[in-house]
Amino acid sequence: MPTLYRQYRPQLFGDLFGQEHITKTLERALETGRVAHAYLFHGPRGTGKTTTARILAKRLNCLKPKGGEPCNKCKLCLAAQNNQNMDIIEIDAASNRGIDDIRALKDGIGTRPSMGKYKVYVIDEVHMLTNEAFTALLKTLEEPVRHAVFILATTEFHKVPETILSRCQVFRFRRATDKELSARLGFLLKQEKREVDGEALEFIIRRSDGCYRDAESLLGQMLTLQDGLVAVGDLTDFLGLPPREMIDQFLTALVRGESAPALAAADDAFARGLDPEQFLQESIVMARDGALDLIKKEKNDAAFVREAAALVRLPLIIRTLIQATQDLAYVPQPMIALHLAIVVLTNDSVNTARTVNTVNTAQPLPDASPFLQNNRKTQSVNNAQPAHKATGIEGSGINLERVKSIWPQLINKVKETNPVASTFLRAMEPSAINGKALQVQAFYALHRNFFEKDQNKQPIEVILRELLGDKVVMRCFMAETGPATSVTVQDKQKKQEQDLMMAVKEAFG
Ligand SMILES: [Zn+2]
Repeated sequence: MPTLYRQYRPQLFGDLFGQEHITKTLERALETGRVAHAYLFHGPRGTGKTTTARILAKRLNCLKPKGGEPCNKCKLCLAAQNNQNMDIIEIDAASNRGIDDIRALKDGIGTRPSMGKYKVYVIDEVHMLTNEAFTALLKTLEEPVRHAVFILATTEFHKVPETILSRCQVFRFRRATDKELSARLGFLLKQEKREVDGEALEFIIRRSDGCYRDAESLLGQMLTLQDGLVAVGDLTDFLGLPPREMIDQFLTALVRGESAPALAAADDAFARGLDPEQFLQESIVMARDGALDLIKKEKNDAAFVREAAALVRLPLIIRTLIQATQDLAYVPQPMIALHLAIVVLTNDSVNTARTVNTVNTAQPLPDASPFLQNNRKTQSVNNAQPAHKATGIEGSGINLERVKSIWPQLINKVKETNPVASTFLRAMEPSAINGKALQVQAFYALHRNFFEKDQNKQPIEVILRELLGDKVVMRCFMAETGPATSVTVQDKQKKQEQDLMMAVKEAFG
């Protein structure tokens, strides 16, 4: 079965949804015979760039155009619709980066079009071209050939060289609004003589994020599910998404600050084989929608929205879940990130659900969990050492300034092989050089302990030697007080998150 997107791909400018600012301009120009040598279409994916390029290409060669529109009946229009028009050449820069294609294009551009008036080159994802291919393309743009028209399309406008841009007529495609998506879906349903329930339609629109192609493809999937009215539950099952009730249960627990039901929902999702990333993303979207509906005083059926603390708690919940999504890249098992988020959000010391009045919503992240704080306190008492203030190695040329100057390089280099160590180093400070010993101040026991282990410390020393040209031994010690000025509140929160991360790793991992 052909996809809806293909089956109902607009064949006229007038059929295109939501890009009237572009199609009207194009139509008017074509009507009066003004054809640019090169066009550049840019904008988010799935907003109609390629479709518009194809209609334009077809119109340029149409034998009996109707104003700005193609006739869709002449042999050249039909050939174009069946991808058989030899004069319309589509190049996907994303798949082969284009140099051979661009060379072939350069060679072939001189020959006359074989069927119609113009040779039209459509280059999709043009930003993917290699520099070499761009240079070749620029040459052809600089020496326009009367019978050749270029239509370049890209989702990443900023990656297209200025030299290319300056030769093109530029059109910016915009993301579809909910209303436009809804109109388009309504149109498709009418064509298919089908119905879906309102909630399901809303679900599609929300998930599509302004992208026509996504919306149409989701609707298409939905329609293949069953013959009758399609409901939102059918679709979540089909797409392997966590059921709405499950996310609702999860969010309700988080709003209340209750760890057990939150963990149960997460573990249930995992046991069903759902992907933690998907679970997190669905939770973020649902929490965001809930928060927005609360602010706008709009109807929302979810249970968590009805909790008294919802509006106060949701910003922190959303932020923490977003952080968890980012953490997924750094944890050995994805569930750790999810568990960490739950610990952060249901920790008694920060559980604001019962004390809504006193909550400071500007505080983005709660303090570390109690067991970790205790741990930190003990360690820092036992291991605190005075900071040595000696400033350099006699005659070795390495002094503290030097170490400080290469510290950012060190962090970057370490990041390549050990992102965790790199994040820790970022939160630490070189404080003195004593003989061959580099004293590094840690503000958290976790960081100090980490670099006490030889397998963590040695790779750093190797890189230090490379950067400094001399061997140094790294000694980490606890700072008794917080860093003077260089650590911002954000850094501190970041450190607390990292601490928690490690604690959760120990607890769950
Ligand atoms: Zn025609």
